[in-house]
Amino acid sequence: MEKKRKFKPSDPLAKTILDCLDLLEGLFRCLDKEYKYGSCKCWKHVAEYFEIEEQEYQNFNCSQVHSPTEVMFEYLQTRRPEMIIGGVKGGLHSISREDVVCVLVEYEQTYDTVDSDTLVCSLFDSDPDIIGKIAFLLDVQKKGLNTWSDLAASLEIPRGDFKTFETCNKDCPATERLFELVKIHYPRTTVRDLISHLEEIKRQDVIVAIRKCTKVSEDALLKDLMEDLDVMENVCELLNQKQRTKRVKNWSHLGRRYGIKKEYLDDLSPSQEEIVCPTEALIQSLGGSQPYSTLADLIWAIHSIDRDDALEVLKVYLQDGCIANVLRLCDCERCEKAREQEKGHADGL
Ligand SMILES: [Zn+2]
Repeated sequence: MEKKRKFKPSDPLAKTILDCLDLLEGLFRCLDKEYKYGSCKCWKHVAEYFEIEEQEYQNFNCSQVHSPTEVMFEYLQTRRPEMIIGGVKGGLHSISREDVVCVLVEYEQTYDTVDSDTLVCSLFDSDPDIIGKIAFLLDVQKKGLNTWSDLAASLEIPRGDFKTFETCNKDCPATERLFELVKIHYPRTTVRDLISHLEEIKRQDVIVAIRKCTKVSEDALLKDLMEDLDVMENVCELLNQKQRTKRVKNWSHLGRRYGIKKEYLDDLSPSQEEIVCPTEALIQSLGGSQPYSTLADLIWAIHSIDRDDALEVLKVYLQDGCIANVLRLCDCERCEKAREQEKGHADGL
């Protein structure tokens, strides 16, 4: 594993995080998403922790970031009203997500109203919590872990449908249109040129996607690569997708590298440049209004909304034991319980 920079809890919150793209990305992956069902908290609750007025923080939310799993369940509700929990469980077994099956089994054991024959669509009224819990688990993108999209495939939802569950950005064909523009303006430009531009804007992920194309070599013209629809689909998806933050360079930076005028690029997708993810906007705002806030404050904020997954992200950037040390005097229920358990454990030895 690569060695990460280590920060101290006393480091300034906004400056530190805004200077560390990986950390920022990790945090907004966790905190951007708003769950409609269940009780999972998000960036809004962090804003509330810092006593930012709702009126103000609603402005941060320029791009609606929703849970694709929740959208998938809404889709099932209308398109497959006959689907029962047993069917979802089968899908989960087939993608090896026994952890999510356990959530369902636990509900079945706790509440008489839910069993394998319960209609999935009825959960929206009776137990929306289940949907929120499952969504939280299936949204997470981790290597080696199947996600909502694998479940969608195993439930035989057509790929064209479930691809739209993720973000509205997917519908924006800005990258596709950019490539058309490049093809017209620079008919002799090659795949190698494209790769070198992508290297400049540090988009190794896109280069990897291009190299998956077995049909053309790097000497080939861009227009030949564009005929490989599968590869282009991935390339465009990657370049469109990252628009949620200004910090990861996207299709518009690529366009600039090709020397395409800003006016043209603005035409491709007028409002997209302005989009910042809500977590990033929140941190920017804290940098202005509370510049004395530190990483320790953020640790308290995230702890108070029960998002240990976001703390895990932060943990990598701190010395071992830092987070526990910051929270050592916490008297919340969760910490008290953990301490009791630890003590019981120690006494038992
Ligand atoms: Zn606590």
